[in-house]
Amino acid sequence: MTIGVVVLALSSMAACHSGGVRAIKADTAPSAPVDTTAPPDDSRPPVTGSDPLGVGDELFPELGSPSVDVVHYDIDLAYDATSDRVEGAVTLRLTVTDDIELVHLDSDGPDVQAVTVDGVDASFETEPGNLAIELPEPLADGADATVRVEYTVDPRGGAGSVGLPSGWFNTPGGSYTLNEPDGAHSWLPCNDHPSDKATYTFRITVAPGVTAVANGGLQDHTTSPTGETWVWQEDRPMATYLIQVLTGDYEVVDGVGPHGLPLVHAVLRTDVAMAQPLFDLTVEQIDFLEQWFGPYPLDRYGLAITDSASGLAMETQERSLFSRDDLVVGAPDFMVHLLLSHELTHQWFGNAVTPARWTDIWLNESFATYGQWMWMEHAGFGSVASAAADALRYRLPGSSASPTVDDLFGVNSYDGGAVVLHALRRTIGDDDFFSLLRRWVAEHNGTSRTTDDFIDMANDESGEDLTKFFDTWLFAQRPPSRFP
Ligand code: ZN
Repeated sequence: MTIGVVVLALSSMAACHSGGVRAIKADTAPSAPVDTTAPPDDSRPPVTGSDPLGVGDELFPELGSPSVDVVHYDIDLAYDATSDRVEGAVTLRLTVTDDIELVHLDSDGPDVQAVTVDGVDASFETEPGNLAIELPEPLADGADATVRVEYTVDPRGGAGSVGLPSGWFNTPGGSYTLNEPDGAHSWLPCNDHPSDKATYTFRITVAPGVTAVANGGLQDHTTSPTGETWVWQEDRPMATYLIQVLTGDYEVVDGVGPHGLPLVHAVLRTDVAMAQPLFDLTVEQIDFLEQWFGPYPLDRYGLAITDSASGLAMETQERSLFSRDDLVVGAPDFMVHLLLSHELTHQWFGNAVTPARWTDIWLNESFATYGQWMWMEHAGFGSVASAAADALRYRLPGSSASPTVDDLFGVNSYDGGAVVLHALRRTIGDDDFFSLLRRWVAEHNGTSRTTDDFIDMANDESGEDLTKFFDTWLFAQRPPSRFP
């Protein structure tokens, strides 16, 4: 069994629940011809010099804002586990990349109370899926601005637009978020597209005795009779889909990885002892993967093990998220090795270097699958060659470089694309293949990249024109039936 199959099963199971989400989007499309003689609708902000909806993602056309580059998110959340309500304030430091009078943020769920731009009150309108903010003064291309949005939200995690768990989930012991690909804006107004990476500060206030965890390092923790505030900071550029927010009875467990790499785990207090073998395994895996993919590319790593239903694993930046039902199994077994190595490999492929568009998802999932295959071979669970042969045999028709929304996390994004990597390795040889993967991370760390960027670097590293290789193995609907 592979993670691709697990995800595929979840995906087809949940696909039938996703119709509602898409129906809402369909309702927003104009159903009748626009009456050009009608007077302009004064209730809407003016749209001249506006910020069009969406950065042009083929799979999620409305996601992101093309005229905004968010540099830093300051996220203040107060979470009340008795009402399951979040009171939020997000401050976005951004640079505008066009002359604009309007800023759009992705937002679908937050009830927005107030918006300021550079400290001045701004009028705003919530539209399906986004928040339109009228700038008090127009901004010129290149200008910096600070936008602050105050809101409340009753989070409603569910089957998201790809039919997988998405958004903010309340658990008996607290809460967790799972945002890939587009769940972040169901609880946080943001530029919810992986092409715009930013740094983050999280300031999360919870009830006395409760722990709040987010990406990065713990900067501060204060307690008062009414609550506790936990401040986490992520200094490495990060896509919104990689945000981690957890609340509950967690213990933050510090450790040390290879060459002093800080490890910061978050596990439920009841699970600390059982998790030690998992922490130890993680150190071995980092050490192994570094030999092939280059130095661990971020500032720290850790495991976050939450009280969610089985089947959840997500490479949230600098601390991957798992379900305790999948990991609390005694001695680490096949599935534990697989899940841990897969999410760890994503820290290089997906997190340090992020897909610029969702159609580039194979740059995440296939590479994580390949790292997982390599670890499984090393740990004695079967060779890369046999995993690759199986994957080639059971691959479905369709290109790994052009997934649909429904099969974004399907088998061709995982094992199907790992087949492409294995064929590339056989074509250009181990030396060029692994130096290509190391260069990909070393030279592009902190940025968002496309499949074409990868092909360019593969050509350069191998000194060959690999156009025909990628046409045959990546872009064709059916790859060859045998490896080179
Ligand atoms: Zn993955």
